[in-house]
Amino acid sequence: MSLENDKKLNAESGIIQSNFIHNIIDEDLKNGAYGQRVYTRFPPEPNGYLHIGHAKSICLNFGTAQKYSGKCNLRFDDTNPVKEDVEYVDSIMEDVKWLGFQWDELLFASDYFDEMYNLAVGLIKDGKAYVCELSAEAIKEYRGTYDKPGKESPYRERPVEESLDLFERMKNGEFKDGQMVLRAKIDMSSPNMNMRDPVLYRIAHAHHHRTGDSWCIYPMYDYAHPLEDAVENITHSICTLEFEAHRPLYDWVLKETKWKNPPKQIEFARLEMTNMIMSKRHLKKLVDEKLVDGWDDPRMSTISGLRRRGYTPESIRSFADKIGVSKANSTVDISLLEHCIREDLKMKASRKMAVLNPLKLVITNYPEGEVEWLEGENNSENEEMGTRKIPFTKELYIEQDDFMENPPSKYYRLFPGNEVRLRNAYFVKCEEVIKDEAGNIIEIRCTYDPQTKSGTGFTGRKVKGTIHWVSATENVKATVRLYDYLFIKENEDDEEYKYNNNSKKVLKDCYLEKSFESAQKDEKFQFTRHGYFVVDTKDTTENQLVFNQIVSLKDSFNKKGK
Ligand code: ATP
Ligand code: MG
Repeated sequence: MSLENDKKLNAESGIIQSNFIHNIIDEDLKNGAYGQRVYTRFPPEPNGYLHIGHAKSICLNFGTAQKYSGKCNLRFDDTNPVKEDVEYVDSIMEDVKWLGFQWDELLFASDYFDEMYNLAVGLIKDGKAYVCELSAEAIKEYRGTYDKPGKESPYRERPVEESLDLFERMKNGEFKDGQMVLRAKIDMSSPNMNMRDPVLYRIAHAHHHRTGDSWCIYPMYDYAHPLEDAVENITHSICTLEFEAHRPLYDWVLKETKWKNPPKQIEFARLEMTNMIMSKRHLKKLVDEKLVDGWDDPRMSTISGLRRRGYTPESIRSFADKIGVSKANSTVDISLLEHCIREDLKMKASRKMAVLNPLKLVITNYPEGEVEWLEGENNSENEEMGTRKIPFTKELYIEQDDFMENPPSKYYRLFPGNEVRLRNAYFVKCEEVIKDEAGNIIEIRCTYDPQTKSGTGFTGRKVKGTIHWVSATENVKATVRLYDYLFIKENEDDEEYKYNNNSKKVLKDCYLEKSFESAQKDEKFQFTRHGYFVVDTKDTTENQLVFNQIVSLKDSFNKKGK
């Protein structure tokens, strides 16, 4: 593929241009190892929702197929009936599509159960597999350790006919779970523990979400996965680094089941991130223990959580591109992900005013009942986004922390006697502070100067502070949810991340500019001076807008110079 094409793809979808996996593929294409074919697959086990680590794998597998005009399957690796569920299957399909990818074929490993079984029978006939009646503990004990060779099972040399008979009866449901297994006959003294007669099939009287009760024996991952790849004609089977030591077994299975031109397994380092958990099992625990509001809680590292949080597919693809693909394990700072969404929304999101912690401001010299429609740009960095009208009235809301009765030096916002600009509007000067009986500030009284209207080129005098505001009478009320990381380190040099009890803050009395009336579910905005926010897709109703904070405006990624 030409460099030009490469660049185009990269620009369109943020796909990784070149990495060590692509170098291997280039070499294979040169040697004609698989003719000119490149066929990959994304093979999730449907036992949970996908997370950002899976997004890396999706971008890599689908992106590689796109780069080489090849194919990529979405294959459910549903060989473990106990933990799997259709809910997960549906969510995985949604997530892959949402990320912007389309599979060539949608497949289920369970559809190959017959073929896998027949191939296992073939292995027994060839003397390459046997039925073993050692208990799980005994198998473990017999396996030995890294520096001690294993011991052969007493069932290892049982006649082929006997194994064939027992294996069939295992399939027919004559035995209990754990009573016997089918094992490969490889090498009990191999330095690679995975090669010490690994288990190929186990008995599990469990209901499967697709095959129902047809099977009570299920293939093990190391046996099933290479066969799934081979059946689908996959050329490059990309997986994470922990499977490196399983590769000899992957190759053994394909050799002994006699595939011509078998697929090739290539391992890369899995994504790990600061402040995020990257394991379906742990994520499920958070859901089950109700430490989050479901799999798509906006604080979750799941793709559905990130989507609800306001992340775009573009931002996640761009993230996958930036982190690249390597053989070395490393932990990516979460600020890089945040950087990617800021970059994506910078030119796309309207920037409007929202007051999250309101304090009433009354302009004493402004006419009662008047509504003045001021003009503001929708995005000061992107003129194409046009302008909007903002109603200005006698009573307004400003942020509580934009006012201080006794400010420190260098506080340029509002305080008694000080003048500031109200963004897109006028200068106002604080004349009086009103308090309730308990001494809480409940209202600020100001005067405004009609000459200072924004956009009229007023140069008479300058103010140091500009603050945002929303009309107290012409506005939209909303609930706004602010988030912190779900996992934090209490002290900077702590090794462990701890669950953060204060990761969600709900503000119920927020006031937004009138133009938010037309906000749509999933629409993203920049709240002036606050950051990026998205209209929640689930909790927003016709009468109640609910926003999720996506990310603050501050970019710690660039600041750290990483
Ligand atoms: P988990 O431990 O979260 O359940 P898994 O590896 O068991 O992850 P699978 O459903 O088996 O999840 O994974 C589907 C594909 O996604 C596999 O090819 C796997 O290697 C890849 N994958 C899973 N986690 C990551 C990660 N953190 N980074 C990159 N790829 C990943
Ligand atoms: Mg798994």
